[in-house]
Amino acid sequence: MAGNDTLFGKIIRREIPASIVYEDDEVLGFLDTAPQAPVHVLFIPKHEAIPTLDDLQPEQAQLVGRLVLAAAAHARAQGLAEDGYRVVINCRADAGQTVFHLHLHLLAGAALGRFGTPE
Ligand code: 5GP
Repeated sequence: MAGNDTLFGKIIRREIPASIVYEDDEVLGFLDTAPQAPVHVLFIPKHEAIPTLDDLQPEQAQLVGRLVLAAAAHARAQGLAEDGYRVVINCRADAGQTVFHLHLHLLAGAALGRFGTPE
């Protein structure tokens, strides 16, 4: 995954630390440093540097499935699935995307507020 110069690329390459809680052949999961819920984990593709969801190509579609499945597996393993959880992908400015390496947020651990309210 050479050439990815984002913060998350550095985490993949272990150049900066992260609290890694999930890893498989395609996906890395680590704790968000500014959690928006009691459980807030970020899931990223390890081998492809895709800046935003809008850049995803049809032949890369399985990657999003892998991110979702990783989040679901982690939630199940942590005993969070029964109470429930939310997964979110922010795309660009209006969604508040700040790191341009495709990632999925898993939010859980409490009843979550509604979402999508314009500021
Ligand atoms: P976005 O806003 O792009 O959808 O999500 C990026 C997320 O990365 C944010 O929730 C933010 O808190 C998180 N984040 C920013 N810097 C770091 C960092 O250095 N380490 C970790 N683990 N998360 C970070």
